[in-house]
Amino acid sequence: MIKQKEESINTILDQVELKRRGLLDKVYVTGCLSERYKNNLETEIPEVDAYFGTMELPMLLKQLNADYKNELVGERLLATPSHYAYMKISEGCNRTCSFCAIPLMRGKHVSKPIEQLVQEAEGLVKKGVKEIMLIAQELTYYGLDIYKDRTLPDLMRRLSDVKGLEWIRLHYAYPSKFPMEIIDVMKERDNICNYLDMPLQHASNNMLKAMRRQITREEMEDLVASIRGKLPEICLRTTLIAGFPGETVDDVDELKGFCNASVSTVWEFSRIPMKKELRHMVLKTMFQPTLKNNERRK
Ligand code: SF4
Repeated sequence: MIKQKEESINTILDQVELKRRGLLDKVYVTGCLSERYKNNLETEIPEVDAYFGTMELPMLLKQLNADYKNELVGERLLATPSHYAYMKISEGCNRTCSFCAIPLMRGKHVSKPIEQLVQEAEGLVKKGVKEIMLIAQELTYYGLDIYKDRTLPDLMRRLSDVKGLEWIRLHYAYPSKFPMEIIDVMKERDNICNYLDMPLQHASNNMLKAMRRQITREEMEDLVASIRGKLPEICLRTTLIAGFPGETVDDVDELKGFCNASVSTVWEFSRIPMKKELRHMVLKTMFQPTLKNNERRK
């Protein structure tokens, strides 16, 4: 994280230097760093003309004399190969997981209206996109802020109706208070993949509590069993964290037991090159990968 901050600050300083040499007129900074450290940055690097948070694009455009609504609603530049795209359905998170800085950087949960997302999906299909991956910091919270209800199932149905959209895939579902209607819609609609990325993070109740995940191991097991009961062919993917502060050998054994009992494939990933016994590992796991309708992998 420190390295990433350094890289970002060096990039800002490089642009400020270009401005000093007369090669740039203005320097504006936007994104996570600016959201979280705006006041410090304004003090430390005052040569920047303005700092904007992650949800302040309209203010940035106003500064550039551009019209947000006319020029940008539903418009997308693709950074992925042309056949698929990620679509962010909300920004921010209201949870307080103790290992996560996202709420500090991205702010509270803000859902995008369904109409706007349908418009965005139609625009992506016109560009040749066949598959859309719905992403958010917490996908299953969608709608609670603007519609006062968990309306992800409604959004799924509306997107599923977009002509030419062949696959819709769900990422980053929070397990606590998971709306089971999501699985009903998956069953109902052929172009919604039988696939769910649901980070569980740990299996020991001690660790789940320390991580402030608002769910117990027993509740997670019941949830996974209910999902599989409704849709046996579903492919569940999750992420688990090992090496969380305070984790004991018993906690690790419990996590291993959970993986052995529930998981078909595990692979490990770490950003930090440390001795193996100390390493903060993230185990990415895939539960029961299967094909929908015995046709093709989604
Ligand atoms: S739900 Fe996800 S984004 Fe929100 S605080 Fe927890 S880990 Fe972070």
